[in-house]
Amino acid sequence: MGRLDGYRKSRDFRKTPEPSGDHGGGSEQRFVIQKHDASSLHYDFRLEMGGVLVSWAVPKGLSTDTRERRLAIQTEDHPVDYIDFEGVIPEDEYGGGTVLVWDTGAYRNLRADKDDDGSDMQASLDEGQIEVWLEGKKLKGGYVLKRTEAGRKPKWLVIKMEDDEADARRNPVSTEPDSVLSGRSLDEVREDAGEGA
Ligand code: MN
Repeated sequence: MGRLDGYRKSRDFRKTPEPSGDHGGGSEQRFVIQKHDASSLHYDFRLEMGGVLVSWAVPKGLSTDTRERRLAIQTEDHPVDYIDFEGVIPEDEYGGGTVLVWDTGAYRNLRADKDDDGSDMQASLDEGQIEVWLEGKKLKGGYVLKRTEAGRKPKWLVIKMEDDEADARRNPVSTEPDSVLSGRSLDEVREDAGEGA
């Protein structure tokens, strides 16, 4: 069983423009947050580790306000080349809907600096306590992910840490809605795919 078996099994790559993940990945640690207008709008937060993108669906997106505790439902690992995917997944396919890259950049494991049991990301993931520093275009600074419920789709909370990048007055999910890669809105991604309004 490979880590991407769940991802591949639920997709027909002759029908969806999403990558199959046959190309492997480098050692650089990157993250992406993809805005996904599926049956309900959500934000897919993905951290590169161990050659895959470990993924969570965050219904409200990530906040810059330390008081906000955002639900994050862990979903299947995705291939690393999903990191710059924008496009339209056909309606009758898994996750059908429009995807854009809402934010992306490098990330750093903050627990590695403290030299505790979470010194590698896989250990943090297994333990259910992840602390990362994001260097995105919209989001920067420390974020904590805490697992609150195990199971097939584990539930986590994602919370902004107290640091210079925390800002309760910002609300980038609503004020900065478009792609950081292409500048496109969801409508423009749909139009470019020939499914425009
Ligand atoms: Mn999604």
